[in-house]
Amino acid sequence: MADAIDASPLVDGFGRAIRYVRVSVTDRCDLRCMYCMSEDMSFVPRSEVLTLEELERVCSAFIALGVRKLRLTGGEPLVRRGAMTLVRALGRHLAAGSLDELALTTNGTRLAHHAAELAEAGVRRVNVSLDTLDPGRFRAITRRGRLDRVLDGIAAAQDAGLTVKLNCVALKGVNEDEFDRLVGWCGDRGLDLTFIEVMPLGDIDGSGGFSRADQFLPLSEVRERLARRWTLVPDAYHSGGPARYVRVAEAGIRLGFITPLSGSFCDSCNRVRLTATGSLALCLGRAESVELAPLLRACPASDQPLIAALRAAVARKPEAHEFGTARCPALAAAGRLMNLTGG
Ligand code: SAM
Ligand code: SF4
Repeated sequence: MADAIDASPLVDGFGRAIRYVRVSVTDRCDLRCMYCMSEDMSFVPRSEVLTLEELERVCSAFIALGVRKLRLTGGEPLVRRGAMTLVRALGRHLAAGSLDELALTTNGTRLAHHAAELAEAGVRRVNVSLDTLDPGRFRAITRRGRLDRVLDGIAAAQDAGLTVKLNCVALKGVNEDEFDRLVGWCGDRGLDLTFIEVMPLGDIDGSGGFSRADQFLPLSEVRERLARRWTLVPDAYHSGGPARYVRVAEAGIRLGFITPLSGSFCDSCNRVRLTATGSLALCLGRAESVELAPLLRACPASDQPLIAALRAAVARKPEAHEFGTARCPALAAAGRLMNLTGG
């Protein structure tokens, strides 16, 4: 007889219930955004990446422990062969009522191809990363991407009935002259928009002359500048993620700000991250993690040890991130790369 599973919710040592897991389904990507990867990026060996079945197994264990929202990310989730098989498998939890939301964060390059299938599998929302509307600048930031493919992807996602939100990393001297245009463009298309502060993850600075410290732009400044052109109305909306929101009266959209460096959102943190290699990262801005791959492989037949490991890991979730502190360099040294951990 199968052992009974203790399905009480996951709560960390600070009383925060964990309801949201972000899953990096691959560390690989078809782009090389300058703030995320180095130009000559080396990826982890394929043998170290969790199989689709292992990813599904960990996600299902989390769902059994009360997680209600999953976000697939990466790397670029849609470049992984079989990604849609995983999406469909996880979509069954939506149909069963054990999961509220299955979302995706994507660079959009393959979205035109997959949008309808994502919608069919139960995905309702996708976040598309787009830092500029200028094709040349897009190519420079991503070091290889084609803007038209992303724009086609956004249109296809909207046609398929998906709610699309744009994520834009605010970069001093790179795209700061475009923020008003982006707000207007999103307003015309009914897309919400979130600005993100660039975070010092992974030791990639200096690659191609890019320095995240030099290009860091506090979102307090971005907000102040936007407020000169638009009426920003405070909005109590909470997506379950770290963004804080306002409504842009003239554009009719919601505008989010994710401020890991200039503001703290740790008190209400409800999430953990699973990396593509099966590390459970308890906080994006801390080096601590727990390796699940050895356990998955040692215990293929029972989920009890996995469940116990998830509980023990969550109990150790740190109280707050260390971005902007003296310990921050430890993050780079620990190899906490955005593409492996999942943004
Ligand atoms: N490839 C997908 C994409 O670009 O949307 C998903 C993975 S990507 C790592 C997720 C998000 O992280 C993107 O919105 C990206 O702009 C953001 N990101 C990557 N590196 C970052 C950094 N160093 N600081 C802040 N945001 C970053
Ligand atoms: Fe790829 Fe996303 Fe990183 Fe850009 S931000 S390199 S699209 S993983």
